[in-house]
This record gives sequence, structure tokens and C-alpha cells, in this order.
Amino acid sequence: MYRHILDGQISELPVGKAVCVGRNYLDHIRELGNEVPAEPLLFIKPNTAMVTMQDSVVIPTQWGECHNELEVALLIDKPLGNAAEASAMQAIGGVGLALDLTLRDVQDNLKKQGQPWERAKAFDGACPLSPFISAGQIPNLDALCFSLEVDGAVRQQGDTSMMMRRVATLLSAISQVFTLLPGDVVLTGTPAGVAPLRPGQHLRASLADKIEIETRVIARD
Ligand code: ZN
Repeated sequence: MYRHILDGQISELPVGKAVCVGRNYLDHIRELGNEVPAEPLLFIKPNTAMVTMQDSVVIPTQWGECHNELEVALLIDKPLGNAAEASAMQAIGGVGLALDLTLRDVQDNLKKQGQPWERAKAFDGACPLSPFISAGQIPNLDALCFSLEVDGAVRQQGDTSMMMRRVATLLSAISQVFTLLPGDVVLTGTPAGVAPLRPGQHLRASLADKIEIETRVIARD
């Protein structure tokens, strides 16, 4: 059973939902030929999608391409509903990394048919998470670099300063629609560089000089 890790300890927080933001980095919107959304594009992964990113990242192989989307993840530790920007930041208990695993072929088909994305983004194991560090260790959440290397080559390199909506704006906007509860996680969107993962690949994900994860892609039986 997955549990959140915060500052090296198993957290007492429950494991809730993940609220994810799509199309929050212009370079990624362009690489997929999508339109810039007028409002944040939001979707949810259930807690059954959450797994640890350490040791291995297990991907399904029977549904076409499974893409990496490395994102900064925020661990919520206070209830947040209908919140103003000024108070939203106080609900962030931890900061970490997430892979928003995306079955791109499935998603393309669903998009064409105007159907919801859950099959592509909310399947079991679709949200590998790193351990979190307490938010106090991050001086500025709106200027935080992160990167993903695949077999030693940089595939994604992002900085939260490139987000179209700042963290406080995002959290406030999310909380107008979905009340965030302690143990929920917010995924803040991915920069360019999404591409298929293959079993056997070695991944290294890092968040500034605070978090570094080495892991391996394996196929789900
Ligand atoms: Zn994403």
C-alpha cells in the first residue's frame, strides 16, 4: 500500500486524490499542438493511481505508448476550499515530484471521440510519486527547476517560473472546483519533452538540489 513519505518519514496523512493541471507550460502545449486553455484544464487521478517512484516505474504495455510527464507535486496538509490566493500557499505541506503517466494513444483516441481521459491518465499506478520534502525547505515555489533524464540523456527540463499560472493562482482556482483535503496531491503540469517510456530504461528525476530519484521502467505483467 502506498503511503506519502515526508522528510524521510512515513506521513500520518491519508492518501487522497491527485488533482492535475493540464497545459500549464507553453512549450508542452506547442509540442502536442494543443490550444492554450482559457481556464486551467483540470483532471483527477484516484488514490489507486499513486505508487512510489523509487525502485521502479511500472508501465502497462498493452495499450500503446505510455509517456513520461514529470511534474512538481504539492502535498496538501490542510483543507482548502474556495480559497483566496493569499491563503492557498499555507495548505502546502510538502513538495516533491510526480510522473503523470499518460497512455498517449489511448488519450488521442478518447480526445477524438470527445470522451473523458481517465483510461489514459487515472489507471492503477498512473501517478508515481517521489518522497516529499517539507515546503519550508523551498524558498520560492515559483522558481524551482526540475528535470528528467532517460538513460543518461536529458528528456525534460522545466522550471516552475515557466508555468502559465503561478502556484497560488492554481491552488486557488482548483479549490473553487474541488475541495482539497489533507493527503491530497496537486500535480502542476509538465514542460516539453513528453515521449514514450520503454521497459528497461533508467530514469533519473531531480528537483533543484533537493530531491534526486533513480529508478527503472518495468513492464506490468
Ligand atoms: Zn501532466
